[in-house]
Amino acid sequence: KELPADPILKNSRRQVEKACFSYVTPKKTAQPEMLHVSPEMLENIGLSKEDSKTEDFLKVFTGNAVLPNTKPYAMCYGGYQFGNWAGQLGDGRAINLCEVEHDNKNWALQLKGSGETPYSRSADGLAVLRSSIREYLCSEAMFHLGVPTTRALSLALSGDQVLRDVLYNGNPEYEKGAIVCRTAESFLRFGNYQIFAARQDEKSLKTLVDYTIKHHFKDLGAPSKETYLAFFREVSKRTLDMIIHWQRVGFVHGVMNTDNMSILGLTIDYGPYGWLEGFDFGWTPNTTDRQHKRYRFGNQPNMGLWNLLQLANAIYPLIDDAPALEAILNAYQSNFDQASFKMMRSKLGLQTEADSDKVLIQDLEDILHLTETDMTIFFRNLSGFEKEKPTEGIVVVQDAFYKPEALTVEIKDRWSQWFENYANRLNQEPVSYPERKEKMNAVNPKYVLRNYMAQLAIDAADTGDYSLIDELFQLLKQPYAEQPEHVKWFAKRPEWARNKVGCSM
Ligand code: AMP
Ligand code: MG
Ligand code: MG
Repeated sequence: KELPADPILKNSRRQVEKACFSYVTPKKTAQPEMLHVSPEMLENIGLSKEDSKTEDFLKVFTGNAVLPNTKPYAMCYGGYQFGNWAGQLGDGRAINLCEVEHDNKNWALQLKGSGETPYSRSADGLAVLRSSIREYLCSEAMFHLGVPTTRALSLALSGDQVLRDVLYNGNPEYEKGAIVCRTAESFLRFGNYQIFAARQDEKSLKTLVDYTIKHHFKDLGAPSKETYLAFFREVSKRTLDMIIHWQRVGFVHGVMNTDNMSILGLTIDYGPYGWLEGFDFGWTPNTTDRQHKRYRFGNQPNMGLWNLLQLANAIYPLIDDAPALEAILNAYQSNFDQASFKMMRSKLGLQTEADSDKVLIQDLEDILHLTETDMTIFFRNLSGFEKEKPTEGIVVVQDAFYKPEALTVEIKDRWSQWFENYANRLNQEPVSYPERKEKMNAVNPKYVLRNYMAQLAIDAADTGDYSLIDELFQLLKQPYAEQPEHVKWFAKRPEWARNKVGCSM
């Protein structure tokens, strides 16, 4: 109510000026079927398992019924895509249903894949099962890994056929349509502010920033230049925190465009994301970004900064103080180095700080690049390293090597040297072996949603078998636990899955 709404009440595609959102009606679907519901999210919004089995639940969360006294809407935003200003983008296939307040928390509920909106541009507003499974599983997995993220309540089939690809022979290839209900305190993105700046609509810009602070950054106080600066400082801090977590668990977002950057510092838009298998700063899961690799693993911190710079430019008219904004951006850079260093020390189980740590970490990152080494397995198994037995280091982590035969004498020597240095460094640490192991296992996950795991769930779902979705969902609720009964998922990517990553569409 506080934000300017688009006066036109139609889903038809258009440029929407001077408005933060447009009222829309979700599309009715042919034959909705609920495939999975997150019990934790149900509880978060105050619903029971029984509620989730009702016809009403199915209808509401597939867009076939609108809750009384609610007005679904799609948000207007713009964004820089791969470095270029793209103009108006907006919720082209996302519809906000309502907000729920429960246990002193606010949850916006949003359907993804529920039909066209004014922001759909040339696309259909729909989502296919494969991308919906990927979003549903990964967002909940990230939450349980301790990474700030949007979450997911439900995954449903629409019963409609959706066209994505045309086959080599010119025939259309239809896929099962699906709808995910995702949740977050807010889905506001950097692009929501940028669109007004680009249109020189300072009035709407100020209204939206004031709204954001009033509802989501309550501690910052009344609107003023100081408050806006504090707001930007907080957004920078949260963005940094989120990206450090990505680096810790080996998550590569893949499309860090400014329209995919949450103002709350949540991981948002699970499209072409992927998980590192071999530790490689140069890796990106996004096949459309393979040439420039803008959003590669090692560049995520820089891209966070670049995006923050664009946000600073957008809100500049409200602040009019370039040096103050620049100081915040500079702090991001130095804080990032510090936080990243601290995170890497925690992955190595180092509780204290030593001058030699920088070199130890740099060396490790260099050696990890020499032959393909599985990031998750390497760090998890490293907790089993005993400083009294430095020569056994390479045996402790050997399961992480994709091609053990590629370990030349020189590479083995470098590993031996590194493990010796690591053992010496651990000798300066006060904690016992079991204590260190426990601490390391709390930051180095055993189970992540490897790209091939999601693909297996998708392949099975295509044949009508949805059991693997649940199996992975349950597994990824406890990513740091040993779960010996599930140890088959603690394994290197099989060779058939090399270079197979999901698609964003
Ligand atoms: P993304 O690359 O997923 O961040 O999407 C960029 C923009 O394209 C956003 O405005 C999306 O809403 C829009 N978009 C993506 N897929 C579709 C679709 N199938 N139908 C309509 N809009 C879409
Ligand atoms: Mg997006
Ligand atoms: Mg997307």
